[in-house]
Amino acid sequence: MDFDYSPQVQALRQRLEAFMDRYVLPYNAAWHRSVAQAVFPPPFMEDLKALAKAEGLWNLFLPGLRPDEPGLRLSNLEYAPLAEIMGRLPWASEVFNCSAPDTGNMELLHLFATPEQNQRWLRPLLEGQIRSAFAMSEPDVASSDPTNLQTRVRQDGDAWVLNGRKWFVTGAAHPNCQLLIVMCRSADEEAAKHARHSMLLVPMDTPGVTLERNIAIMQHHTPEGHCEIVFRDVRLPLSNLLGQPGAGFAMAQARLGPGRVHHCMRTIGQCELALALMCERTLERHLFGKYLADFANVQEWIAESRLEIDQARLLVLRAAWRLDRGQQIEARSDVAAIKVVTARLQTRVVNRAMQVFGAMGLSPDTPLAYFWTWGRALQLLDGPDEVHLRSVARHELAQARETRGATAAYFTTPEQLLAEPRIR
Ligand SMILES: Cc1cc2nc3c(=O)[nH]c(=O)nc-3n(C[C@H](O)[C@H](O)[C@H](O)COP(=O)(O)OP(=O)(O)OC[C@H]3O[C@@H](n4cnc5c(N)ncnc54)[C@H](O)[C@@H]3O)c2cc1C
Repeated sequence: MDFDYSPQVQALRQRLEAFMDRYVLPYNAAWHRSVAQAVFPPPFMEDLKALAKAEGLWNLFLPGLRPDEPGLRLSNLEYAPLAEIMGRLPWASEVFNCSAPDTGNMELLHLFATPEQNQRWLRPLLEGQIRSAFAMSEPDVASSDPTNLQTRVRQDGDAWVLNGRKWFVTGAAHPNCQLLIVMCRSADEEAAKHARHSMLLVPMDTPGVTLERNIAIMQHHTPEGHCEIVFRDVRLPLSNLLGQPGAGFAMAQARLGPGRVHHCMRTIGQCELALALMCERTLERHLFGKYLADFANVQEWIAESRLEIDQARLLVLRAAWRLDRGQQIEARSDVAAIKVVTARLQTRVVNRAMQVFGAMGLSPDTPLAYFWTWGRALQLLDGPDEVHLRSVARHELAQARETRGATAAYFTTPEQLLAEPRIR
């Protein structure tokens, strides 16, 4: 395993850092002001996107882009350090057309869309002309177990008819959000449990689609929203089915791997920033006759944060590397692991930084309070920690079943002590 950044990736990192410093960071305060005044997206966003596109810093994430599709065709491993840089500023990914949930949705469309669906949805997404959302979770059922999902689609002549309620649909309140990819139940008990759901492409402006509210996450709203949406007798052409009927789960699996790597690397970018903020603050703040940096407990927080961030980054890079090599089984376990590790990392590292900043750490004057909230949300979004831990445990147990008995020689029970050595 070699996770050294290639010369191409090094050069891209430098270009991306320079672009962030020169064009994006200077707009950070203006972005917050604009959102506070309910002007979203801020007027400068399209200019920044055009600039990033012109500089070739566009669609950095999708490895399998076709020759006529705009983007850099980087592998997951190559993209990871770039996601880390963009992640430091939660709104920056949109500038480079790399924001969730569009990246996952583009990945999905790239894999499963028909040529017509491609033209209608993937192309404008790749060009950054529209945005999209992914609607799976429902208020009425435990959505950690997606076989529970009840939103229902049935065929009526030459149309699908969709009914149900979804919530926490990230991105649906963005004014440019034109597409919802909706996971819905399309078959009854006769089909296997994981073959009962399909994905439908639902234009946001279809009659019967109602955005009921943007749900606040721990007291604050995000401008692009985590929305509750109702579908009442929504009629859609049959051609709006994505992939095969009943293939919803298989397709969702394909979507989630790279998307989680992106989330995790953005998280690591935020943790790095929290650590940098923490260190600077400790060098400035003076109390009880010394600087905060001189207190042993603070040094320990700094050191622990560095160790934990580096451990997490290596694990994420390994997951990306395995995805690139098509090691599906190992990659699936790694992807589950990084989802848990980085969400916990974020709340821990940011919590220490908030403590170092005192009361200011809880205010909106630093990015820390937002980062902490996001870390907390990460323990749920894209599936709660427990579901991912279960995947890791299942992988371990499957391996143990295959090699069962291999640990026998390590026992020193009375029977073993009496047994003659046996050369295998
Ligand atoms: C900020 C944010 C953004 C989101 N964005 C989206 C989105 O864009 N699209 C979308 O469809 N959904 C989205 N979600 C929803 C998210 O995916 C669900 O909240 C998550 O899958 C859990 O489902 P649930 O809330 O129904 O919890 P439930 O399924 O009711 O689970 C409740 C709790 O049960 C426990 N649990 C679950 N499974 C196990 C297990 N196997 N073993 C032990 N304990 C377990 C966990 O502690 C879990 O928190 C978002 C959520 C948040 C917070």
